[in-house]
Amino acid sequence: MTTICPDCQCNQGELHEIFCTKERCPLCLGQLVSCSCISSVLDLTPEEQTAVDEYIDDQVEPLEGINRRWVKALNKKGRIPF
Ligand SMILES: [Zn+2]
Ligand SMILES: [Zn+2]
Repeated sequence: MTTICPDCQCNQGELHEIFCTKERCPLCLGQLVSCSCISSVLDLTPEEQTAVDEYIDDQVEPLEGINRRWVKALNKKGRIPF
């Protein structure tokens, strides 16, 4: 019997879809989408921080690039599977 993530429907032991609300941050073990590690890990500029706080559209810069850097940092650290 397998358990499935109620949010992104990944199977137990698999990685969540990136930024699934159930994914835990490998740095602080908190909820990945709401923790503030992104700011310190990526050393965001005030403008970038504002973009992250407002989170208007992650398909356009600067959010797209910030997210790309964040995913890279997460992969390097080792993401936490469900
Ligand atoms: Zn998930
Ligand atoms: Zn964190």
